[in-house]
Amino acid sequence: MNATFQFDSPADALAALLGQVSPVGIEVVPWSDSIGRVLAEPLIADRDSPPCDVSSMDGYAVRLNDLALASLPVAGEIAIGTPPTDLPEASAMRVVTGAAVPRGAEAIIAREDVQETPGRILLRPTQTAPGKYIRRRGENLLTGQPALHRGSVIHAPAVAAMASFGAARVSVHRKVRVGVIVTGDELLPIETTPQAWQIRDANGPALHTLLVACPCVAIQERTHVPDIADRLQAELARILNDCDLVLLTGGVSMGDRDYVPWAVQAAGAHIVFHKLPIRPGKPVLGALGTRGQVILGLPGNPVSILTTACRLAGPVVRCLSGAKRGTDHRAVVTLQNPDGRDLPLWWWRLVRLTDTGTAELLGNRGSGDIVAAACSDGFVEIPPGQSSAGPWPFYRWEI
Ligand code: AMP
Ligand code: MG
Repeated sequence: MNATFQFDSPADALAALLGQVSPVGIEVVPWSDSIGRVLAEPLIADRDSPPCDVSSMDGYAVRLNDLALASLPVAGEIAIGTPPTDLPEASAMRVVTGAAVPRGAEAIIAREDVQETPGRILLRPTQTAPGKYIRRRGENLLTGQPALHRGSVIHAPAVAAMASFGAARVSVHRKVRVGVIVTGDELLPIETTPQAWQIRDANGPALHTLLVACPCVAIQERTHVPDIADRLQAELARILNDCDLVLLTGGVSMGDRDYVPWAVQAAGAHIVFHKLPIRPGKPVLGALGTRGQVILGLPGNPVSILTTACRLAGPVVRCLSGAKRGTDHRAVVTLQNPDGRDLPLWWWRLVRLTDTGTAELLGNRGSGDIVAAACSDGFVEIPPGQSSAGPWPFYRWEI
C-alpha cells in the first residue's frame, strides 16, 4: 500500500467498495420495460429451438437414395407456418427457408442446384449429405434449458430470445435510484448570464447526460447546494433516504469550504476511500451509507467529474443493477501518438478514436479543460510510470 494513498489503484479501491455493495431488489415487468436492465432469473426455453426440423434454404426436400435418379416429381409444397406432411416415395417437396421439413426427408437440395420444370425437378450431380440445409429440432437449445443467465443485460438479441421463448414478462432488478447533489457557491444554472467570477453548472447537466442514457437508472433528484455545511448535511440526509447511489460534485478536497467529507460522515456513512492515485480526480471519495447506499464525492472540475463518473460510478451502477461482474472498460486501444510522458499516478488521458482503430491522444490544459473533453470520445487509463502506445483500457463517455 502506498503511503499517501489508501489504495494503489482505482481498480483496488473499486473492488473494496463493490465488495460491500448488493444489487437492488427485483420486480416483474413487461418485456418492453426490461430493455437495458438486468435479468434477475434465468430465461428458460419453453420449447425446443428450433421447435421442429426446418429448412435453412429455399429448395426441395428429398431422400438421399432418390438423388441417383435424373429427375423427381414435385409432390407439393410445405408452406411456411403449416404442419409437415409425409414426403411421398421417389418425390421431392418444395420448401422455403424456415418451413417444416416433411417427414421422411433426409436433406434439402437448394433451388439453385436443380433445374425446375413444370411439376418436376431435374437433378444435377450435386454433392449433398444427410441433414444438409436442415436445422434440427432443438439444435440451438432444448426445452427447459437456460437461454440467458441471471445477471444478463437485456440487449436486442436477448429480447429476441425472450420473444422466441414467450417471456412476455420477465423478472429484472428494479432501477437503481440515483441522486445528484452539485455543490458550489460559484454556480448558476445553464440559462443564466453569470458574472465573470461565477460559472454555469456544467457538472449537473453532464452527470444527467450520463445517467439518463442508462436504462437501469432512475434519476430521483438533481439539486444544487451552496457551500454551507448544514445545508449540505440536510440535503444529503434527505436524498440518501430514497436513493441507492448519491453522486456529489465539488467540495471534496481540502478547501475551507469543502464540506462533502464532513457531511458524508455526519450522515453516518463509512468512508471506504478518500483520494486515489489518479489524474484527474485525485480527491475523489467513496463511502457506504447506513443502508448500504453508495456515496461518491466527485471532485468539481468538469473533466474530473466525467472521468470519475465513467471509471468509478459506472461500475457502481452496474453492480447495484445486478449485472454480472465483468471488465469495466469495453475495449482496449493503442495510441497513435504516444508522447513519452508519464506520471506517478494512474493517468486518465483524453483520446479521440481514429478510423483505423487506434486512438489519438488529445492535448488539454488539465481537469478544467472542458473544451478538449468536449471534442474527445473518452479516455485511456495509463498506469503509473508508463508512457508506451499501449494498448490501454479505453473508457467511452458512458456509465
Ligand atoms: P471544487 O471541487 O468544489 O473545489 O471545485 C473545483 C473546481 O471545479 C472549481 O474551479 C470549481 O469552480 C469547478 N466546479 C465545481 N463544480 C462545478 C460545476 N458544477 N460546474 C462547473 N465547474 C465546477
Ligand atoms: Mg466547490
